[in-house]
Amino acid sequence: MEIACNVTRQAPLIAHLVNLATAQWRGGARTDPLDGDALTSAFAESLSQRHSAALRATPDAGRSLAALAGELREALLAGSPAARAQHINALIRRYSAQPYLVEDVDQPFHLHFHGQGGTEVDALGGEFAAALALIVDGYGPERFGECQAHQCEAVYIDLTRNGSRRYCSASCTARAKTAAYRSRQQGGAAATHGDGATS
Ligand SMILES: [Zn+2]
Repeated sequence: MEIACNVTRQAPLIAHLVNLATAQWRGGARTDPLDGDALTSAFAESLSQRHSAALRATPDAGRSLAALAGELREALLAGSPAARAQHINALIRRYSAQPYLVEDVDQPFHLHFHGQGGTEVDALGGEFAAALALIVDGYGPERFGECQAHQCEAVYIDLTRNGSRRYCSASCTARAKTAAYRSRQQGGAAATHGDGATS
């Protein structure tokens, strides 16, 4: 269960980083992908105080975070299960992800996958690569996708029981439902783009 807990914590962080740094459309609006210090500050807000401080203290964190986000997006949206696995294995190697047990103040021994001796971004890369591998192992390789709502390029990681997720957020789910309702009313073409394969 520790592994599942770890994955549950990492999955939204992974999607958040990818979306901050790579999506040009989010939730129906044009948006500028973040880079440099803006990316570091925005992403640091979603980390614990200790990790947030370590990230802000990392020289040139924004650039390496953006590179990590690009690699994660490629892995998530690779065209086949085999390609996704290949990308994830490459990330595990690049960020030297390696399981080891840690005992924190409020938690019993649990697994971490920080790379060895790297920066905070390298540590995040190791944790995220391992989390993606555990998701594929535990949930299968079809749990990653790009939001199917109109004008949204955000990615999602689907940890639902039945693997039914198609949208990045509750607001995109609502937008898509409204669009589908309107298109049924008009009897015209759907305003959402394709609802087929997510890869
Ligand atoms: Zn969306």
